[in-house]
Amino acid sequence: MASNDIVVVGSCMIDFVSYAPRLPKPGETIHGSEFVTNFGGKGANQCVAAAKLGGKTSLVTRVGNDIWGPKYIENLKKNNVNTKFVNATENYSTGIAQITVADTGENQIVIVAGANNQLGITDVDVAQSAISKARVLVLQLETSQDVAIRAIQLCRGISILNGAPALSEYNPQLLKLPTIFCVNESEASIFTGLSVDSISEAQTAAEALISIGCNSVVITLGEKGALYLDKNETFHVSCPQVKCKDTTGAGDAFIGALAYLLANDKDISMRKALEKSCVAAADSVTRLGTQISFPDEKILKDN
Ligand code: ADP
Repeated sequence: MASNDIVVVGSCMIDFVSYAPRLPKPGETIHGSEFVTNFGGKGANQCVAAAKLGGKTSLVTRVGNDIWGPKYIENLKKNNVNTKFVNATENYSTGIAQITVADTGENQIVIVAGANNQLGITDVDVAQSAISKARVLVLQLETSQDVAIRAIQLCRGISILNGAPALSEYNPQLLKLPTIFCVNESEASIFTGLSVDSISEAQTAAEALISIGCNSVVITLGEKGALYLDKNETFHVSCPQVKCKDTTGAGDAFIGALAYLLANDKDISMRKALEKSCVAAADSVTRLGTQISFPDEKILKDN
């Protein structure tokens, strides 16, 4: 594969996760039982997911000029992601999510986007050559809409926009420009205003998204697999039934796999690509964690 087959433009965040018997009340200090640090952020997650499957990936993102920036870059390098377009930002912290998980499973999350909010058109323009040569460009909505739109305008390959987190107000170009618009059920519901709890409701929501200008739509349906719709065809793919341990990042594993499959084989059918993306994402939910739970290339050879 060429050097920049897959370019991802988006966020990176570090999750600081404390486990405690219960959530603290306002002003209260309590003792927790365990603490873990996870590398996250939808942009970085999707890029690492594609890289772990063997994709040649570059990430366009921003980290802060704190101790976490270099640690994040090291993590990306360890996962074979090209970090040429990872920019350290003066006077901003690396994006972080401070998460408290209670024994009941309830959680409390504070996100500080930090350097991610500084990712701008100039970052995209610096990566212009890589973006225009990429077979697949991947974007999400944790960073600015203008950045996503600019990147898609430079792309000459396939662009996948993951509409996450969902927006109730957005630039209509955001839906019209990408080759594939991919959302989960709750995001599909926010973008369309429709209830999306079943395969048939997902079909109706996908039709609504096509009618407002999407070129093609993928709606992921958790353990029910995924639904595809474009102007010529529609189908549903199911996913393997697995012993689920942790669904965090399942959508990111799915999109990373889809990007890898479309970049790796220009003749692959959309049905085959989505079936295999479901296999990779289903495998990721059998392990705890986010990036560390994503499968390597063996998963696609075995299935
Ligand atoms: P998100 O993680 O964005 O909420 P979904 O829940 O729709 O997205 O999951 C994305 C994909 O991950 C699904 O299409 C499916 O392939 C896989 N997946 C998610 N949950 C499960 C599960 N419980 N069992 C098997 N596969 C799953």
